[in-house]
Amino acid sequence: MTTPNDTSGSSSSPTAQPLPLETARAFIRDAVTPIEAIEYVALRAALNRVLAQDIVSPIDVPAHDNAAMDGYAFAHGALSSLVVAGEARAGHPFDRTCGAGECVRIMTGAPMPAGCDTVVPQELVTRTGANIAFDAQTIAPGANCRRAGEDLARGRAALKAGRIVRPADLGLLASLGVAEVAVRRRVRVAFFSTGDELRSVGEPLDTGCVYDSNRYTLHAMLARLDVEALDLGVVRDEPDAIEAALRSAAKSADVVLTSGGVSVGDADFTARMTATFGDVAFWQLAMRPGRPLAFGRLWPDGRGAGGTSALFFGLPGNPVAVMVSFYQLVHDALVAMSGAIAPRPLQFAAASSAPIKKRPGRTEFLRAVATRDKTGTWSVTPTRSQGSGVLSSMSEANCFIVLAHGQGDVSVGEPVDIMPFEGLI
Ligand code: AMP
Ligand code: MG
Repeated sequence: MTTPNDTSGSSSSPTAQPLPLETARAFIRDAVTPIEAIEYVALRAALNRVLAQDIVSPIDVPAHDNAAMDGYAFAHGALSSLVVAGEARAGHPFDRTCGAGECVRIMTGAPMPAGCDTVVPQELVTRTGANIAFDAQTIAPGANCRRAGEDLARGRAALKAGRIVRPADLGLLASLGVAEVAVRRRVRVAFFSTGDELRSVGEPLDTGCVYDSNRYTLHAMLARLDVEALDLGVVRDEPDAIEAALRSAAKSADVVLTSGGVSVGDADFTARMTATFGDVAFWQLAMRPGRPLAFGRLWPDGRGAGGTSALFFGLPGNPVAVMVSFYQLVHDALVAMSGAIAPRPLQFAAASSAPIKKRPGRTEFLRAVATRDKTGTWSVTPTRSQGSGVLSSMSEANCFIVLAHGQGDVSVGEPVDIMPFEGLI
């Protein structure tokens, strides 16, 4: 794999320039091709899926002009004293044309009777028996009437292909009477952890060992993205075992994610191993946390062979680095592969409540807690520990502080960019 600073097999070279995050992002973006396959799912199952086609509205929504308030429907410009000729309720229209000198008692959502264009709210009316009186000057023509098609007009694209279906969209599809939706097939992601020191939940923790947490954060992050995730467990640091796991993962998935085994000490070993069936670059990213990253393509039946292949991300082992690399690099790739057209995660400025040491020349993602004070001003405080192994900093935080590549030290009160976890995660 030719990369802007191809460090394949030479990741330990001290002369290799760290790769700017934006360069890595652009490179990954170019390597992704969206999934074409389409599935048809029942309306409820379309939640969080990616629309494969534009949804063209088969009807006007609402289908008829209707009342926006409880009151009396009448023809604007008519007299301000009218006879109540009948009633219209939601689902029960008034069944004839409203004549001169007449009005119709109407409830919210009821179709506007023929001959009427305006609704006077009931609280502005004095009713005496079958007659009403009100001040016609205070009611504009067409007031309190919702027009047919004002929500969605027949023949227009109500939702565009590439849209991720959110709760409002599901309701909107229902309002059109759509029972079945064409969506893209879900992206399949296989993942496993590497490391002789890893123990799985439920096993005793031997001396010098740690529980495998990366598989759980990966599982959770993938679940939020609504991909089809395949958990392949823990694989020991043995070339044969890792090679077998990578080949089998690449056979069954579109994307393979691993954690661990790409740091300077391990990269040569992984590079040699993937050389026969992969095209993988080992990057040192100008990013913190998450410096080492392997990225490329794997062909389970041999390098460059036709047939199936999978994108490969070899994430670092440190638990925070895994999450940051996922959100900053893998996330976008999975969204693009899913066929979704989605905006980048929300980012806005907040005043830093602490000084931050920052060296220009790398992008940093600090775990932080953002709060909004009574005056509506946002401020943000980094969590106490910023170690790339300190997963509790991710639990404690509600956002990343994003310090751009060229940024230097930050002083107290200076605005910094923050990326809230909600909406992102
Ligand atoms: P590595 O990149 O394999 O050298 O791992 C870097 C650090 O992350 C080491 O301290 C590992 O023990 C830790 N680590 C690696 N994989 C995991 C995992 N799946 N869960 C928790 N910690 C891990
Ligand atoms: Mg390891």
